[in-house]
Amino acid sequence: MDYLTTEQRHKNMAAIHSKDTKPEMIVRKGLWSRGFRYRLNSPRLPGHPDLVLKKYRTCIFVNGCFWHGHNVEVRSEEGEVKSSECCKIPHTRREFWVAKIKKNQERDIETQKRLAEMGWHCITIWECELKPSKREQTLKSLAFTLNKIWLEEHAVIGKPYPQLEEEDGMLKAAEKQI
Ligand SMILES: [Zn+2]
Repeated sequence: MDYLTTEQRHKNMAAIHSKDTKPEMIVRKGLWSRGFRYRLNSPRLPGHPDLVLKKYRTCIFVNGCFWHGHNVEVRSEEGEVKSSECCKIPHTRREFWVAKIKKNQERDIETQKRLAEMGWHCITIWECELKPSKREQTLKSLAFTLNKIWLEEHAVIGKPYPQLEEEDGMLKAAEKQI
């Protein structure tokens, strides 16, 4: 039996066609609740990053493990590919899937290279890192990384404190002016 009211059906269809896939929503909510603000699917940037944080000069991609071939590696010249735990390449039409996933991987690398050239930081969050057991840790380290990027961009990290003598000199100069 398959009975849905028109409204339910509409809702189901909307959910299916929605761009707000679940892993991306987890990242969005996690960042928002920690006070980070972002833009979505910036069409002007290479690869249309899922989230763009201008203040942090950072693009975030939330990648599905299968389509983007998480931890999948090409083993030999012939294109022999080793599946990974979270990206199992089907045995049927294997060549097709290998070619497709490889192409996506190459595109991802190219996109990140272009963004880096434009001065953007890129962070990739993998779907498997958002499993309930790993979610909190992933969001926590994402927030940590963003804060670190901000501090580095603003050169707060690594800038030496003024030497004591310098401070002394500054004080004396100030005193003279009074
Ligand atoms: Zn994965």
